[in-house]
Amino acid sequence: MSTIRTWRINNADVPVKIVYENRRNARFSLTSSSFVIRIPRFATAQTKSEMKESGKRWIESTISRKPDLLNLFAQRIYRDGDCICTFDREIEVTVNRGASQNGLSLSLKSNILAINTGQPDVKELEGEGVSKTVQKAFAKIYNMLVTKRAQDLAEEKELPTFEKLRLTYMSSRWGSCSSKKGNLSINTKLLLAPAEVLDSVIIHELGHLVYADHSKNFWKLIDEKDPYHRRHSNWLKTNGTRLQL
Ligand SMILES: [Zn+2]
Repeated sequence: MSTIRTWRINNADVPVKIVYENRRNARFSLTSSSFVIRIPRFATAQTKSEMKESGKRWIESTISRKPDLLNLFAQRIYRDGDCICTFDREIEVTVNRGASQNGLSLSLKSNILAINTGQPDVKELEGEGVSKTVQKAFAKIYNMLVTKRAQDLAEEKELPTFEKLRLTYMSSRWGSCSSKKGNLSINTKLLLAPAEVLDSVIIHELGHLVYADHSKNFWKLIDEKDPYHRRHSNWLKTNGTRLQL
């Protein structure tokens, strides 16, 4: 059982998910959609409320240390005339400039992302629904290109080839790999990162086709195949929350 609520912390509305589950101690973490407070299901009511309080203090101190984190929860606003820069092109956003239609429709062609809302006077829009629709459109357009890029990297770096690559919405990871099936998943937001950062995540996931874990051997392989991987993962730590699509 879990609920997401909004807490007012350090003058910001912060989404907090509270999960009651079978565990001994409280655990606090952060995903790209909310903070998460995990609480033992069978604790007493008083212990539960103390754990929530200490979770709140943890969130306060986390935000004080890294105020940029709040960008994570800010939704992208799509404004008429905006530009979305991906690793290989600049895409212009047009809102309601084409023929108006009923409901939300979207097309991404020749570097123009056209969003029609069906309401002619709207010139900017935001919301999870729009964002997910835009991410799907980008995933569709870029899937082949990124797959080709990953195939080239696998060949160039002498890493195993994969079965399938999927650009997808992910809430808390940049990439994942099912080493049994040989499928890679890459977070669609990485299209907004520099090409070498995208490549670095791809190489990391290809590396998991050799070693499924994060063992010493895995990191030795990554050091060899992607000598600047630390620089790239630091770039993501610093800038990752700004990659909003
Ligand atoms: Zn990994």
